Amino acid sequence: MLVCSTCARAFSATEPRWQCNCGGYLLLNSPAMFRREDLAQRPGGVWRYCEALGIQDPANIISLGEGATPLLDVPFDGCFTSLKLDYLCPTGSYKDRGSSVMLSKLKEWRITEIIEDSSGNAGASIAAYAAFAGIRANIYIPESTSPGKAAQIQLYGANLIKIPGTRENTAQAARQAASDIFYASHNWSPYFLVGMKTAAYELAEQYFWEPPDWILTPAGGGSLLVGLHFGFTDLLNAGFIQKMPRLAAVQSASCDPIYRAWKTGSMDVSETEKKPTAAEGISVAKPVRGATILKAIRESRGVVVTVNDDAVWNTVEKLGKHGVYVEPTAAAAPAGLTRLREAGVIECGDRVAIMLTGSGLKATDKVVEHFAANGAGRA
Ligand SMILES: *Cc1c(COP(=O)(O)O)cnc(C)c1O
Ligand SMILES: [Zn+2]
Repeated sequence: MLVCSTCARAFSATEPRWQCNCGGYLLLNSPAMFRREDLAQRPGGVWRYCEALGIQDPANIISLGEGATPLLDVPFDGCFTSLKLDYLCPTGSYKDRGSSVMLSKLKEWRITEIIEDSSGNAGASIAAYAAFAGIRANIYIPESTSPGKAAQIQLYGANLIKIPGTRENTAQAARQAASDIFYASHNWSPYFLVGMKTAAYELAEQYFWEPPDWILTPAGGGSLLVGLHFGFTDLLNAGFIQKMPRLAAVQSASCDPIYRAWKTGSMDVSETEKKPTAAEGISVAKPVRGATILKAIRESRGVVVTVNDDAVWNTVEKLGKHGVYVEPTAAAAPAGLTRLREAGVIECGDRVAIMLTGSGLKATDKVVEHFAANGAGRA
């Protein structure tokens, strides 16, 4: 069943739908779970957990080989730290987990054309999976999106529409156009969130069912954060793990609505003004699933922290010295770890995993600009 987060109205999951009649966002309540003993016989990746992903007929599965990403141990800031290299998914970002499940459901619903809006990575990911599924994709992006991300979307054969103004103007334009084409928004789709749960399942397996004390993730729309919380909740309910890891959400100081809501004890996230930031993928002035995001942070005894662009770029360079190349948005999470360790919230001896969400190859144009302005390899 698809259940409205606002009025609790339930809808059958066999009918295409992305929103409740009341305007609320939908969540899939899925009591189904995989069996731990079945996993040994299955290949790695998102679909080894297929029972938990809400697809009725396996013939509808749209997969490009997402998930099964490595956990790399490094001495980050001199403390043992595990990096989840989720940017190694097929399109260069973790969004492929969500796109694989969402496009599978769209195929199951016999949808033939979709609209999505994105700051770049979700658009590229959905364009790729739509191409593989034979579904026509119309992807709306802000005019300011990195040229590399725009080109990637076009390369997958999607119809690319650039909208002047803010990320919010882009979302508005897409929703207007979606009156007669299905709105397959990663910020609204309950199935996109379901795909994110597989990051939790995978981490649990990589930690031999004893998850780390902390997991850090960048947070904009909050799909990864909420997906991790849902996934670990499934594992707790199934008795596969005994303890919920604490979730630390990292935002840009230039756009921090989740931080403000958390700090003031609010139940929902209000829109904030934002300034330009290198962390474009988390520059979301008002996340759709605000209440669910705050619940994920509080129920896991998590925290929210902000980082500025200098810290982000320093961290991009610092990770490079470990052989790891991520885009600035992804570097926000490890930059947040440095801050939380300095503040004594996370201790050097705590077991910590960081979700690294986007490949540096996505942002080569920005890295070139950064080196032109600051000199290469100064860190
Ligand atoms: C989309 C994105 C994020 C933010 O994820 P949300 O699920 O919207 O919070 C973080 N990092 C990268 C690289 C992204 O593309
Ligand atoms: Zn409703």
